[in-house]
Amino acid sequence: MRAEAGNVSQVFVSFQGEGLHAGRRQLFVRLGGCPLRCRYCDTPDSLVPVAECRILGPDGLERRPNPLSIGALDEVVTRLAEVAPPLHAIALTGGEPLLQADFLVAWLAVRATTLPVLLETAGILPARLRRVLPWAAIVSLDVKCPSNTGERARWEEHEACLAAAVAAGRDLYVKVPVPVPTGVLGGQAEVQTISGKPARLKIPPLTQNGQVFRLKGYGMPTVGKTDEKGDLYARVEAQLPTRLSTEERGHWEALAKLIEAAAKKHSAA
Ligand code: SF4
Repeated sequence: MRAEAGNVSQVFVSFQGEGLHAGRRQLFVRLGGCPLRCRYCDTPDSLVPVAECRILGPDGLERRPNPLSIGALDEVVTRLAEVAPPLHAIALTGGEPLLQADFLVAWLAVRATTLPVLLETAGILPARLRRVLPWAAIVSLDVKCPSNTGERARWEEHEACLAAAVAAGRDLYVKVPVPVPTGVLGGQAEVQTISGKPARLKIPPLTQNGQVFRLKGYGMPTVGKTDEKGDLYARVEAQLPTRLSTEERGHWEALAKLIEAAAKKHSAA
């Protein structure tokens, strides 16, 4: 089904902050709407369709009413891409961009720019991912662990999405959301693997945001040797809280004071 217009919440150029391509300059197309409600959502403004699209270009902020037509989106993307080279890719993000797979496919099939497309997805809509994959060079699967999100487990959907991306030969990596206390004190995190079974990853104390861990033998099968598998690379994404209870705030404030006192002591020494 062809969708002539879609709900786009933002278009802007920035540096990719996550995954293996972190630090690269990309043109972001953020789509409105997400079926999940993760406990630590980092884009709460895009959880539902929004009334207007905010376009941040060299001349400042521009607003366009939603839904945005394919032609209008392509004009904006082409204009921003022309004034902001060099760009690494167009990043399709959300919300959950695959909610609007028909609109994405309709736009990507006729777009004027030739930049590679990086698709950021929670990996829960495999049928829609298969439709968009022909236009996506890179897939960033942000696997949601129920222990972190408060959502139900989606391992079957994640497995189907991983399998589809691997079968299409796409560049693929997984992000591992790690709550800040686990990163600081150490602990464990679940990583979705190609086999569909989550693997347990040991998180050492003082793990840094962006740190990459190799899971030996959990990667893609070696061509011609089905019993041999490569390694899977998982990148830690620190999850900062988006809400604090009064008690939690009190603990964070006490911690902040401790850290400040230690820094003063250190600089006085
Ligand atoms: S999938 Fe992304 S946008 Fe949706 S609720 Fe989770 S963090 Fe927020």
